[in-house]
Amino acid sequence: MEKVPHVLVVSLPAQGHVMPLMEFSHQLVEYGVKVTFVNAEFIHQKLVFTLLDHKEDQKDRRIHLVSFSDELDLNDDRTDSQKYVDFMSRDMEVHLEKLIKKINESGNEKIDCVVADPNLGWGLEFTEKLGIKRAAFWPASLGFLAFMLHVPKLVEAGDIDDKGYPLKEEVIRLPHSMPAMSNTDLLCSDGRSDDNTIREMLLQYIQNVNKGAKVANWILCNSFRELEPASCDFIPNILSIGPLLASEQLGHPTGHLLPEDSTCITWLDQQPVQSVVYFAFGSTTTFNQSQFNELVHGLELVNRPFLWVVRPGLTDELSPLNSDSFKDTIAYHGKIVSWAPQRKVLAHPSIACFVTHCGWNSTVDGVSMGVPLLCWPYLADQFHNRNYICDIWKVGLRLDKDENGIITRSEIKTKVQKLLGDEGIRSRANNFKDMGKRSVSEGGLSSNNFKDFINWIKF
Ligand code: UDP
Repeated sequence: MEKVPHVLVVSLPAQGHVMPLMEFSHQLVEYGVKVTFVNAEFIHQKLVFTLLDHKEDQKDRRIHLVSFSDELDLNDDRTDSQKYVDFMSRDMEVHLEKLIKKINESGNEKIDCVVADPNLGWGLEFTEKLGIKRAAFWPASLGFLAFMLHVPKLVEAGDIDDKGYPLKEEVIRLPHSMPAMSNTDLLCSDGRSDDNTIREMLLQYIQNVNKGAKVANWILCNSFRELEPASCDFIPNILSIGPLLASEQLGHPTGHLLPEDSTCITWLDQQPVQSVVYFAFGSTTTFNQSQFNELVHGLELVNRPFLWVVRPGLTDELSPLNSDSFKDTIAYHGKIVSWAPQRKVLAHPSIACFVTHCGWNSTVDGVSMGVPLLCWPYLADQFHNRNYICDIWKVGLRLDKDENGIITRSEIKTKVQKLLGDEGIRSRANNFKDMGKRSVSEGGLSSNNFKDFINWIKF
């Protein structure tokens, strides 16, 4: 009997990493691959909790979920960046090594391939030593990966110092259809750009990514050729397999760390076609109080139905949402949830546009559903994704800050109106939706790349 291939998928402890890797894992299972999905314990607990809503998946155990401890208490503060960096660079390595040895010595199916974020470069080096096949799964755009691979040259050239601070302002240009990026944006975290820890974390990330990309046999990514043709050619060993749409096509849960509030779908069912403005800013964006208040007033000025994801931690003080004026006027034509089934939301006919922080997964979600995008980036690669959206694909518009660094209520109103009045944007967005669908359909490039990957694992 043919051996069932066994893939160990290693996720970083963050929502934007767990979700695409889960989507990817479900697709592996569809091709008869056994998947062990490993996560840090605190993320594992959240995953298991949200899976309780999907009893079918628990029963058939499509994916074997395992965890290792980060040696912090479950209630410890994991938003502490330094602890996070320490954990990833030191503790995770030890745990991963133990896990692979344990599985391989247990007499069950040995691990045939390890798929990990390239940030876990040491993990991929370790699997190389064990003679195990390895692939990096890149959770952002290929264009951004090209920049990450370019940063060591910037440090060498003295454009960025070894703490991640740009020494001169310069626009970095890689091949034609990749958006340019200023080196000040490259290591930027909005509102926290002076935060040394964040900057060092990003720089360390870049070093690890360079290491990981070097030792990986393949670099898999949730992108498709028509989105990033130049980057597909620029980086060797790329396999674009996106858009990853397992949750849509297969109906399996895909790694939500917060419970999805599906009442928003029922609410969307009651709204007119292409009427609703969807606001969602991913899993890590935070707003200071004045920006949050301005957004609340923006909802009033926009004066259209809205769906807004107000995730725990989005801001410190939610009192503007409890005021009488909000409840009596603004809330009347909107719906607020703490976490949405985003793919389902974006596929819903009542959605008119998506106000997004431009995280790569949200960007791919929006583009592959043909939804016009209004860009409000916050951190790192999100600025680069915004440039793709507005300058290269032309499927969205920028929200610009005023002289005080605030995106004002009137800016929100003006840009929503402009976006919704632009037929060119909608039609280009629909073209990308069609191209994405074709790419993952039988005979499409992403679909063929996925099959090539499966064959490579097997033989
Ligand atoms: N997401 C979701 N519901 C929400 C908000 C986000 O399912 O209410 C998902 C979204 O589909 C995406 C992920 O969370 O897959 C966020 O990843 P992204 O790369 O966009 O941003 P990050 O959270 O990493 O900043």
